[in-house]
Amino acid sequence: MRDETLAIRLQNEKSPFGEHSTPLYLTSSYAFENAEHMRALFADEQEGNIYSRYSNPSVSEFIDKMCRLEKTEAGFATASGMAAVFSTFGALLEKGDHVVSCSAIFGSTHKLFTEILPKWGIHTSYVGSQDYEGFERAILPTTKLVYVETPSNPGLDIVDLERLGEICKKHGLLLVVDNCFATPIIQKPIEFGADIVIHSATKWIDGQGRTMGGVILSTQEIIKKVEGFARHTGPCLSPFNAWVLSKSLETLALRIEKHSANAASLAERLAIHPAVETLKYPHFRTHPQYALAKKQMRLGGGIVSFEIKGGLSAGRKFLDALQMLSLTANLGDTRSIATHPASTTHSKLTPEDRASVGISDGLIRLSVGLEHLEDIVADVFQALEVSQKK
Ligand SMILES: *Cc1c(COP(=O)(O)O)cnc(C)c1O
Repeated sequence: MRDETLAIRLQNEKSPFGEHSTPLYLTSSYAFENAEHMRALFADEQEGNIYSRYSNPSVSEFIDKMCRLEKTEAGFATASGMAAVFSTFGALLEKGDHVVSCSAIFGSTHKLFTEILPKWGIHTSYVGSQDYEGFERAILPTTKLVYVETPSNPGLDIVDLERLGEICKKHGLLLVVDNCFATPIIQKPIEFGADIVIHSATKWIDGQGRTMGGVILSTQEIIKKVEGFARHTGPCLSPFNAWVLSKSLETLALRIEKHSANAASLAERLAIHPAVETLKYPHFRTHPQYALAKKQMRLGGGIVSFEIKGGLSAGRKFLDALQMLSLTANLGDTRSIATHPASTTHSKLTPEDRASVGISDGLIRLSVGLEHLEDIVADVFQALEVSQKK
């Protein structure tokens, strides 16, 4: 089955009522048939649900769909994207281990590497997303994994996954890819040599700004380790959120195609606007890794970022002049959203760290929604006019 079909048709559980859509299993625990059944489940001799912190049929269905879409054997779903990132490290890293990470990563992941993991003796080296020799140079005898985001949030840097995959293979390292911005509709990192794929399902996967969630996808062997950590630390996804996310997956391909089409048209028109200094969109020719983005990504995605003429003050005027676009910290919603990373998602970084990952004071990130293209363009353009007034 192709992605569009399996995201709709994969349905694991059938109740005696024969529902056409997927039932929701709101239960904390499961009744055992008898003492022997209970013993066998706890001893891992028999498959089955014990307690919803471990597994739940609604959660399993979401995981199974994500595994099929990302072409992995197994997965574990979490309450948020950050719970997925942290559970991966909690499961796979030990005191004294070292990580090599792309410097252009999500603000909270950066915080995890710089402030939280060092408490347990785990240290991270950062490398620029295009510095492949730098990745090799940063590898130490204690390095366990390489972590990247592509496209990155919010800078839209593209990492060559095939090239990095070869480097990781050569040095026996795990390649972990945060695939939040692309979704499996646009790129499947496993096909390029990644070992573990992480998602914040809160973004495009939910796609309607209503649910938080995350997922870790990999081999049976690695997910067993993740379960060993996560089942006992409790970052599990709620069955209700899993049910919402399974439903959201049914329209993922359709939504991503439309978000990408709207974003590509908006990018083309913004690129020639006099108030726009530089524009970045993966499938637009001004992107520094345009050729790579064309090769690695089936579509350009829904995020457009640009540098407004007039820096910080013009950026703030632009945001205040928007009438339809929302000012909110989320992305990947049906509603178009404008954000200012320097004062929001990446405010936790020092100004120097922000500059090193290409976030300037005038950077505006647009998450292009599913409204009519002309309504999005009209609002963005009138706000650009206002931003340039004295
Ligand atoms: C939002 C985001 C996360 C964190 O996800 P939450 O669901 O908010 O915890 C991780 N990575 C990227 C790229 C994100 O955009």
